[in-house]
Amino acid sequence: MAISILGIVNDEAQKAQVSAVTQVRLCIGDLAGVEATTLTACFEMLAQGTASDKARLIIKRIPATGTCTVCGTAASGRGRMLKCPVCQTGPVKLATGREFYVESIEVENTLQR
Ligand SMILES: [Zn+2]
Repeated sequence: MAISILGIVNDEAQKAQVSAVTQVRLCIGDLAGVEATTLTACFEMLAQGTASDKARLIIKRIPATGTCTVCGTAASGRGRMLKCPVCQTGPVKLATGREFYVESIEVENTLQR
C-alpha cells in the first residue's frame, strides 16, 4: 500500500520537476482495510532518500455509507460490517467506504526561492 502511494507521489514530483514533496493528502475509506498508523510508518520509512523524504501524510477517513438492498434505507457507520438500521439483515450496497487514493500533493520548488 505504502509503496504504491510513494510511487504515485514520486512520479508526480518527477513530472512536475519539483525538489521536494511537503504534504500528501490521502483519502481512505473505513472499509478499505488500511490502518492509518501502519501506513504512515511504512510511508515514512520508504520515503527516506526520495523526493518525499520530508512529506507529511494527511489522512482523511471516509465513513462507510450505503443503502439497504432490501428496504432501501440509508445506512452508515464505522467498522467492518455495515448493517441496515431498519431490517438489520439486508445486505447494504456500499456508496462510500472503500476509497483509497491520493487526493492532492503539495510540493516545494527550489526554483521559486
Ligand atoms: Zn433494510
